[in-house]
Amino acid sequence: MILDQKHLRFQKLCRQFAETEFTKELLDKLEETGDFDWDIFKKMSKYGFCGVKIPKEYGGAGGDYLSYAILVEEFARVSPVLSIYANTSNSLGGGPLMLAGTEEQKQKYLPPVAKGDEIMVFALTEPGAGSDAGGTTTRAEEQEDGSFILNGRKTFISGAPMADYCIVFAKTDPSQKGSRGISMFVLDMHLPGVSLGKPENKMGIKGYPTCDVIMEDVHVPKDALVGKKDKGFGYAMQTLDGGRLGMAAQGVGIAQGCLEEAVKYAKERKQFGRPIANFQAISFMLADMATETEAARQLVYHAAELKDAGKDAGMACSMAKYFAAEAANHVAYKAVQIHGGYGYISEYKVERFYRDARIVPIYEGTSQVQQMVISGMLLK
Ligand SMILES: Cc1cc2nc3c(=O)[nH]c(=O)nc-3n(C[C@H](O)[C@H](O)[C@H](O)COP(=O)(O)OP(=O)(O)OC[C@H]3O[C@@H](n4cnc5c(N)ncnc54)[C@H](O)[C@@H]3O)c2cc1C
Repeated sequence: MILDQKHLRFQKLCRQFAETEFTKELLDKLEETGDFDWDIFKKMSKYGFCGVKIPKEYGGAGGDYLSYAILVEEFARVSPVLSIYANTSNSLGGGPLMLAGTEEQKQKYLPPVAKGDEIMVFALTEPGAGSDAGGTTTRAEEQEDGSFILNGRKTFISGAPMADYCIVFAKTDPSQKGSRGISMFVLDMHLPGVSLGKPENKMGIKGYPTCDVIMEDVHVPKDALVGKKDKGFGYAMQTLDGGRLGMAAQGVGIAQGCLEEAVKYAKERKQFGRPIANFQAISFMLADMATETEAARQLVYHAAELKDAGKDAGMACSMAKYFAAEAANHVAYKAVQIHGGYGYISEYKVERFYRDARIVPIYEGTSQVQQMVISGMLLK
């Protein structure tokens, strides 16, 4: 796919923003503290990145999936963690409301999320329900007045410590087995009974805190229910389609960042009296890295194009996520290899890329889950 002028201009804007604003000083600070950086988040919001895919009538830019993928790719090329800052509102945070929210809910929640005034995150995973998200045990008991009482624990929730709202999935009808009888709620994180686990000490993507969300007798109003009661699992899966596209784009950005660092280093570093790029073992690694990166990018752009055309993109999104996540790891591995010992040292960008890449085949459906989705569609 060849990008048109509109998307090329947007790509340029995102690239310039990332190259200018994601300074080494900021990236080192994120790495050292692991804390969320409000300043860069506010800057992203000012540029409208947090609402790229949110419709204009709800305060966003009304962009398409391709623009969203470009944004995530360009940010991840410089900083995988900062690509998440602008991602959540457009995908797992804002996505469920765009998909199933009432007009009132969209008007209430989306504008502040699009503008970066409020943060909304997504909580599906539980300690005992990861890949098997249908095994949700968080319970939402309906009261006589239509309100609900929530009890349960969600785990590994990205952005939970900063969140104002959280999209939560809970069983409303325990008599229904598996993924049936689950509903989707928008949870106000400031309600009594909501608490957080300790921030996880992660291998990578440091600077975007992740922790558990605990709900103990949390009383939510009737209008906290998003979409139809007992149909929440379907909404989760549809939201994850779009989310997977974003994470696939993150993989492409990481691979591209690694490739550029490796090309630069291979030309500069001399051994045996010549640049290591002159050794075929190195140049062929670069060729493989470039090929895998481009193949991943084309899968992502194709999946985005399908979604923008309103076509069924479930399989394409899973393929893009699966391929790009694995590609990011292959490419990051080779980038470190090309840097030799220096690639193992944190001063070099590839060391961070290597650690950051490791999450891509895990969250929003592991690579094995993507294989299950793809093969399931082939064999049905
Ligand atoms: C940093 C981070 C951020 C996250 N952010 C969020 C978030 O914001 N919101 C959220 O809801 N979740 C989030 N998650 C959770 C993430 O989506 C899950 O970790 C992921 O879905 C895998 O679940 P699990 O960790 O329980 O692994 P498991 O499901 O226990 O899987 C363990 C291994 O078994 C494999 N496996 C499982 N079932 C099968 C099968 N049927 N066939 C073959 N292999 C299988 C898996 O692929 C994996 O390799 C985050 C996780 C991390 C680490």
